[in-house]
Amino acid sequence: MDDLLKEKFAAIVGSQHALSNADDQSPYLTEWRGRWTGTTPLVLRPGSTQEVAKIASLANGTRTAIVPQGGNTGLVGGQIPDASGLQIVISLVRMNGVRAIDPDGMSMIVDAGAVLQTVQEAAAKKDRLFPLSLAAKGTATIGGNLSTNAGGVGALSYGVARDLCLGLEVVLADGSILDDLNTLKKNNTGYDLRNLFIGAEGTLGIITGAALKLYPNPKARTTAFMAVDNPFQALALLRKVQDHAGAALTAFELMPRFGIEITAKHQSGIRDPLPTPYPWYVLMEISSLEGSDHADAVVSEIVEGGMSEAIIQDGTIAANETQRAELWRLREGMSESQKPEGGSLKHDISVPVGKLPAFMVEAEKLVLGWEAAARICAFGHLGDGNLHYNISQPVGADKADFLARGQELSSRLLALVVAHGGSISAEHGIGQMKISELQHYKSPVAMTLMHKIKSALDPHGIMNPGKVLAN
Ligand code: FAD
Repeated sequence: MDDLLKEKFAAIVGSQHALSNADDQSPYLTEWRGRWTGTTPLVLRPGSTQEVAKIASLANGTRTAIVPQGGNTGLVGGQIPDASGLQIVISLVRMNGVRAIDPDGMSMIVDAGAVLQTVQEAAAKKDRLFPLSLAAKGTATIGGNLSTNAGGVGALSYGVARDLCLGLEVVLADGSILDDLNTLKKNNTGYDLRNLFIGAEGTLGIITGAALKLYPNPKARTTAFMAVDNPFQALALLRKVQDHAGAALTAFELMPRFGIEITAKHQSGIRDPLPTPYPWYVLMEISSLEGSDHADAVVSEIVEGGMSEAIIQDGTIAANETQRAELWRLREGMSESQKPEGGSLKHDISVPVGKLPAFMVEAEKLVLGWEAAARICAFGHLGDGNLHYNISQPVGADKADFLARGQELSSRLLALVVAHGGSISAEHGIGQMKISELQHYKSPVAMTLMHKIKSALDPHGIMNPGKVLAN
């Protein structure tokens, strides 16, 4: 990119927000797990929707590729530029304000760069709940959450990011601004354009603002950690809890023994909450609008009932907020705790909830038949049929060799997922990681439609090229 063009881009945001120095750029160029690294002539940090629009207009006119980025916590490389050194990163982190909160109308409007946890806290101050939640909430942004259609731990009760969005403000590839920041629940006025940009991973436009749906803030939450023999028992427990608690069940997470062991080993201050080891665990949360007595009573009934029916082998209920946070750290530290265990084959998959235990039996047979010493860390959102089906290398194995060999296993595992009616990407998206799998498994008609939408909205292919769809 010539210096004159660089100067034009930099002038839009001001030189202090146009990063060209390698040290300043580096946090924007490597993904969380260190799996993708890119290069860029500039990281631009616009401060307003108008600045984003001017960047897009200049990029479109000069055929310059742009890569939107929020908190850089995405796990499929969608927010990282390629190695050409020609793609500009547009970081939204300076656009992080809460524009308005309407507690009576149960909605709020935020800038796309607002950090998820900040949005949750702003809603809580008005005694409202913004229920999207995931382990990366302290860094991930609303724009990134919507662009990946994030799921997370609350999806069971409140839905995924798409379900929590009422309207969007989007800068299109040609620099025009789609202002659809309405907070209406009912609005049937033609095609639902907002839904095009949710889950598009920055390939159709740059989200600059979002109108979000709020919920009543629960008065109390009670969390239980329960041991079960196998995923079939976990599913039986899920059915029992849903029958008993209905919408009050706000999280139901499955974790294997191996995951507990490595999390207790690698995260400081975390211990196994139960005195004896069990093969599987469920972390369950009940939220109550009535208060803690109600939430505690519901959880106690479930735990006692489950134990007397021998669905639950043992369990503990958090007695206070500190214990509750400790139980959640066990779950939320599980992703990070796999890193020090060496190479890990990651699969973010979903199958219909009722088929999940049978799928897991077959998947285990497949994995251990391939490598008997592989260590399976299949954990996650059982209530949504969504697991992070990760496989850690055998102790002492060569990481690069394991990851290279594992590609063939991953293909067979994904084929098994699809054979069970599942999805090859439940919540992380496609990014640059799963483009060939998408081509393989998505129907030709769906792929053709996606390409048509892309060329209609971004005819010059400047919006995050090389992500989701092959160029
Ligand atoms: P980024 O990583 O910056 O970007 C992600 C994608 O969105 C990229 O394609 C990027 O180009 C695009 N994008 C970002 N901002 C915009 C914008 N304003 N306009 C247009 N496109 C944009 N995900 C889940 O769904 N559920 C989980 O439970 C979960 N747990 C996680 C736990 C950990 C520890 C980590 C590290 C990640 C986890 N993730 C999870 C993945 C990640 O946090 C989510 O994908 C998150 O929504 C990404 O937000 P971000 O702001 O970091 O986006």
